Amino acid sequence: MTTPIALVTGANTGIGFEIARGLLERGMTVVLGCRDLKRGEVARAELAKAGKGEAVLMQVDLANLNRLRNFVSKFLERFERLDLLVHNAGIWPRTRRKTEDGFELTLGVNHLGPFFLTDALLPLMKKSAPSRIVVVTSSMHTEAEFDFEDPQFKVRQHHGGTAYAQSKLANVLFTRGLARRLEAKGAGVTVNAVHPGVVNTGLRREAPPNARAPKNLLSPREGAVGPLQLALSADLAKLSGRYFEGTEQKTPSPAALDVAAQDRLWALSRTLLKLPPE
Ligand code: NAP
Repeated sequence: MTTPIALVTGANTGIGFEIARGLLERGMTVVLGCRDLKRGEVARAELAKAGKGEAVLMQVDLANLNRLRNFVSKFLERFERLDLLVHNAGIWPRTRRKTEDGFELTLGVNHLGPFFLTDALLPLMKKSAPSRIVVVTSSMHTEAEFDFEDPQFKVRQHHGGTAYAQSKLANVLFTRGLARRLEAKGAGVTVNAVHPGVVNTGLRREAPPNARAPKNLLSPREGAVGPLQLALSADLAKLSGRYFEGTEQKTPSPAALDVAAQDRLWALSRTLLKLPPE
């Protein structure tokens, strides 16, 4: 039997580290897609003790399209299949900053980078079908409307929470838009989104010191349970375009269910990333 190959972005810490651990315990080969190779190597050494599978470290920087292109060509040289792609990496910056390519950082890292990576790896995932994509979003998507007039806060005042919530709405819009396209082509690739719970990680590292810390935080291992269910459960193998909170399927916000918004975001993302229209 061929060993299944998984790619987990942001696998050096937090929820991504525990998702990687769970997959390694199942014997998968897990590519740890980390932006910082030093931090990634520390995680790889720790995860190497985790289980039957092999942990492979590769650089994935979602804030730099050239680095993403490099990653994809190295990945395609090295691996002949991709069974599971977990878009886990994410940030919540408090100030307006930019990616290497000039995108507003929150949208760039949380949505545009994953969109670009998916587009580049999808042909391999289709060849590897049945295969799965898991998108780690947030219940905070329910607080957002996607502002198509000013998605990158060029005109309106940047607000960290608003930018984060909008990017997490983009995750669900993307999941549903992609699921429709994959289903229409009978591609054998599923994609689902999951809110992991409110988890004790470094995500809120830029929160002001006087900000109230959320209560009853889950551990990163508990936060990984929902994503791992979507990645591994045989019962969910055919499910696509759905939104989960932990292990429970839920209805996402009305804004996320808006098909016109899904298609508008799809077209906007392709334009911004200079990908050919479909
Ligand atoms: P975390 O501990 O801060 O981990 C985030 C990961 O993303 C880190 O590995 C980080 O790498 C990586 N990352 C940041 N910028 C990147 C870039 N440019 N390219 C590639 N990787 C990058 O946070 P977490 O809570 O585990 O977050 C994981 C996911 O869960 C995120 O998508 C987040 O939105 C979602 N989520 C978390 C919560 C929560 O309560 N924690 C709730 C809902 C949703 P570095 O270590 O190098 O910074």
